[in-house]
Amino acid sequence: MISIANLSHDYPGIRALAEVSFTLEAQTITALVGPNGAGKTTLMRALCGLERPLAGSIEVDGIDVIEEPRRAHERIGYLADFFGVYEALSVAQCLEYAAAANGIRQGLHARINETAAALGLSTRLTQAAGTLSRGLRQRLAIAQAIIHGPRVLVLDEPAAGLDPEARHALAALLRSLQASGMTLLVSSHILAELEQYATHMLILEAGRLREFRALAPAARDTHTLVVELAAGAPTAALILAAQPGVAQVTQRDHRLLFEFTGDARAQAALLHALVTHGLPVAGLAHARPDLQQLYLDTLKTRGASHES
Ligand code: ATP
Repeated sequence: MISIANLSHDYPGIRALAEVSFTLEAQTITALVGPNGAGKTTLMRALCGLERPLAGSIEVDGIDVIEEPRRAHERIGYLADFFGVYEALSVAQCLEYAAAANGIRQGLHARINETAAALGLSTRLTQAAGTLSRGLRQRLAIAQAIIHGPRVLVLDEPAAGLDPEARHALAALLRSLQASGMTLLVSSHILAELEQYATHMLILEAGRLREFRALAPAARDTHTLVVELAAGAPTAALILAAQPGVAQVTQRDHRLLFEFTGDARAQAALLHALVTHGLPVAGLAHARPDLQQLYLDTLKTRGASHES
């Protein structure tokens, strides 16, 4: 759905993006992360045809964004990191304006109602945008970004300034937009939150793509667990591997990492079995590396390679 190749962008005296390439499949949600000044906003703006890059190509839904930005805009919804709403207009008028700006003429009324319903704004249609709370304003801005039915939605730090409840609602909303067929690219500094909905992670650093990876969906009953031993036990890996539900055991010092299929009861039975076999178990815990860990590990690897 999105294909970027060798994208470079310069501001006067600064290379904001350097030969960035990646492809995003349809109906994925990609978390775009990286330190301040990494180039996230620049990448998003270029993807939306709002910056003309120095070099490279950008394709969205088969359209060359650089050659045909207007056509590309029909397929893309964009929420900027700093956005404004027309405070004096009602929510319905804001949506009408956004629709008209995107060339939507027909079925306007139905579209406004549908979009407002999708964003939980149905009861706010007559309220002035300037009187909405931060969270509702954010919802209105997203509604404005999707009123024309884009296939791709690009959100630059959509959760900034939202309270925990509104963030949770935003995560649910993004998942439902994905389920409705959209492909999303979302930047945020709040990694724990991206983890709630991201299917992929893209790390930018100093204008370069540091990492692009799929985030393994947490299968319902399969977890990566770690057994911590209080002392060395030469037969521990063998004993563990022989237990029901256990696969892919790897041992590092006193830690055994493995995949486990089973519910909490099965986990309790496993722990009992290990203790019964005489293993000095000090702990059993989940070990799925979270997004924050992956991010920090990636930046650390860079630090190490720079130092060497
Ligand atoms: P943040 O997480 O702080 O929002 P970011 O990853 O979105 O940062 P960008 O805003 O894309 O980063 O900026 C990338 C680099 O380009 C930075 O060094 C920034 O100072 C520079 N930059 C961004 N916009 C401009 C501009 N209009 N003119 C000159 N330099 C710019």
